[in-house]
Amino acid sequence: MSVKRNGHEALREQVSHRSGLADRLRRVGQRVTPQRLVILGAIVSGEHLSADEVFTRVEALIPGVNRSTVYRTLKLFRDLGLVSMTDLGGGARRFELIDEPHHHLICHRCGDILDLDDELVDPLRHQILVRYGFVPAIDHLALFGSCAECDAADDQRGVSEER
Ligand SMILES: [Zn+2]
Ligand SMILES: [Zn+2]
Repeated sequence: MSVKRNGHEALREQVSHRSGLADRLRRVGQRVTPQRLVILGAIVSGEHLSADEVFTRVEALIPGVNRSTVYRTLKLFRDLGLVSMTDLGGGARRFELIDEPHHHLICHRCGDILDLDDELVDPLRHQILVRYGFVPAIDHLALFGSCAECDAADDQRGVSEER
């Protein structure tokens, strides 16, 4: 399920989440500064942003903000478990707010990204627990492969890939 929001709704949500963001920072024992709130607020739930994209959003709100400060803060948030940092292909690592578990199927050819239903991941969690007594935190899974279209395009060309 991918939820597309328009800019307005996203912004409103961002503002209403502001106090929640402050709580998240406090809970992990971090100082709540306006700059940190803006950076955390720039990462809207359901989006995957590169560090550059986060910086652009923050800069719009705090002109003259230091790029490396934004990057350092993103790493801090990652270390604190507030955001995830995932390689979704295309070189840049993507930052995302951690809330609901969700997963992606990423076509390594055309770069298309599909949502993978968390229901399909449940049996995997269960089997890992049963077999290893290990409780896996599978909150954000990214699987690479070929999408239906790219796969079909290969079939039409009669290309058989040897791996
Ligand atoms: Zn994601
Ligand atoms: Zn594809």
